[in-house]
Parts: sequence; C-alpha cells; structure tokens
Amino acid sequence: MPEGDTIYRAARTLNRALAGQTVTGFETQLPQLSRIDADHPLKGRTVEQVDANGKWMRIYFSGDLILLTHMLMSGSWHIYRPGEPWQRSRFQMRAVVHTAPFTAVAFQVPIAEFHTADTLSRHRSVLRVGPDVLAPEFDSGLAIRQLRSQPNLEIGEALLRQDLLAGLGNVFKSEVCFASGVNPFRLVRTLSDAELDLLMTKARTFLLANVADGAGDQIITYTGLRRTSGRSDPEARLWVYSRRGEPCRRCATPIVSYKQGEGARITFWCPNCQQP
Ligand SMILES: [Zn+2]
Repeated sequence: MPEGDTIYRAARTLNRALAGQTVTGFETQLPQLSRIDADHPLKGRTVEQVDANGKWMRIYFSGDLILLTHMLMSGSWHIYRPGEPWQRSRFQMRAVVHTAPFTAVAFQVPIAEFHTADTLSRHRSVLRVGPDVLAPEFDSGLAIRQLRSQPNLEIGEALLRQDLLAGLGNVFKSEVCFASGVNPFRLVRTLSDAELDLLMTKARTFLLANVADGAGDQIITYTGLRRTSGRSDPEARLWVYSRRGEPCRRCATPIVSYKQGEGARITFWCPNCQQP
C-alpha cells in the first residue's frame, strides 16, 4: 500500500505539471471513462487542480469534471514529456491525460471514475476517509476520537484503517509506534490520551518530513527513500521497519516482527522500548 506521503507527493507533482494546462488529448482502456469522454470530451478543458485525499487522487477539470483514482497497492501516476518513453508497459496503462508540456499516465489504478462536484460529494468511499494526517487542517483531537471508536482494535491495525485516519501505510505504522514507545499490539482502549496524542504528533512529523519540498519529486513511484530516524545515512534512515534481528537504535535489543491483523501486514518493533 502506498503511504500518504507518496500519494501527496504524486498529487503535488501532478499539480505542478498539469495545473493551468489545456488538455490536448485523453486516452483510456476503461470503458466507463471512454463513455464519459465521448459524451463530455476532456480535450479542450483546463486542468484546474490536482489533490489527494487519503489514497484517492483527484484531478479537477474545467466544466465540473473530476477524475478520481484510487492508488491501492499497485496504482501509480507518472509524468512524462511528450514522446518520452514510458517506464511501464502500455498494457498497464489505464488513463492518459495529454497536455502540451506534459503527459500524465495512470498505470494499474484499480479504481478510476469521472465525477462532478455533486456526485463526488456523495461518494461513500471518499467520504469514509478519516482525517488526513497531511492536511493543513489536520485535527489531532478528531483523529483520536476516530481511533477511540475502535477500542478493541490493536493500535498497529487501527493506524492503517483509512476510515479512521488517512495517510499512514505499513512502513510509517511501525515507525510511528516505535518513536512513540507504544507496542503496536496494544488495544486502543489501553492507550492514554497522551500516548495517542504522541502517536498523532509523530505521524504528522514523519509524513510532513517526507513530503518536504524536493523530496523525490521527479517521477512518481513508491521507491523513494523514507526517513524517520533523522539520520542521513541511507542505511540508518528507519528505526525498526524491515530491521528484524538487527539491534534497536536506542537499546540494542534485536528488533522483532510479526504479522498483524486481518491483512497480515508485517509489523516491526523493539520488545524492550515498546513494552506490551
Ligand atoms: Zn529498543
């Protein structure tokens, strides 16, 4: 699952490339999109804005048309100069927005829909997205109330529930729990307000640090280096994620990992720094 910082960077990159540009062509392999394009052509419209909400990417065109895509595990948007070879196969292409300076290509997005402002405002899955950790108006108190609505969920699972809190993926889940000294298998109801507040603070700090200007802005993929430990050495940039058996950076206890929750997403933690 791409993390919120990846989606945010992707939206920012798309926005920089496309906003204000006139659409010179549109291609798609998806019948539901080509039908809309036939009735209400994209060509000639202006791209007004691109933004993200949780894992949803929204491209706003003039004349009240919005292309909504969900990234899930496999989806990505790439930006190319016209004529530049694509980095992925044409078979994986789902939609292409052509403008004079840039071509934006959606590869393997599992969900792609056209909306008007009205239909988007009634979209149930988009509405279900919890407070976005990266949003300027992020309300930590609201996020905590959302988490507390699932008192018997393990916090490591709750942090991934996009309907409770949008933006955290599997890497940051482990990192945020470590930095907060919270064992990821504790139930939400056992956590104090101070602990939940610290988790939210760390989540926002880490995600914002990873969307800083210039952080991986060229081509949109999911391979960008993430940093949470504050160390510039690429080998030392994460606290616990993917470090099973290696010494904890704080106490040297070997890091452990375990599959957690319905999705069996792997969780890493330090058994000494993060007591049950
Ligand atoms: Zn430790």
